[in-house]
Amino acid sequence: MTLFEKVVAREIPAKIVFEDDEILAFHDINPQAPVHVLVVPKRVIPRIAEAQPSDGALLGRLLLTGKQIAADLGLSETGFRLVINSGRNGGETVPHLHLHVLGGRPMNWPPG
Ligand code: 5GP
Repeated sequence: MTLFEKVVAREIPAKIVFEDDEILAFHDINPQAPVHVLVVPKRVIPRIAEAQPSDGALLGRLLLTGKQIAADLGLSETGFRLVINSGRNGGETVPHLHLHVLGGRPMNWPPG
């Protein structure tokens, strides 16, 4: 079981902000911005590098859920950033695809 599957199964507690049949979203345990939410598909895709064309609908739902959470948390006007880390150089630490929703402060570019 991945760490995030354990969160989905309520074996690890989390501050949940959204759930439906395919997706769970919760606050990151180590927030990098005033708002830092992880949006996780319940079905495990290890990372975006391994996503298949058949995952397209789920990936679309992941993005749309991310923007809706950003709106619900008051980030629409000031803006926000959606991030997916993939692999070692991408900064991935949990091998269960997830979208970071970051906001509440200005983001830098290029990212670190
Ligand atoms: P990644 O580095 O794979 O893109 O993102 C993994 C994220 O999961 C990190 O931002 C990290 O802080 C977060 N994280 C790791 N363990 C836990 C946990 O047990 N609970 C929550 N809510 N977030 C976690």
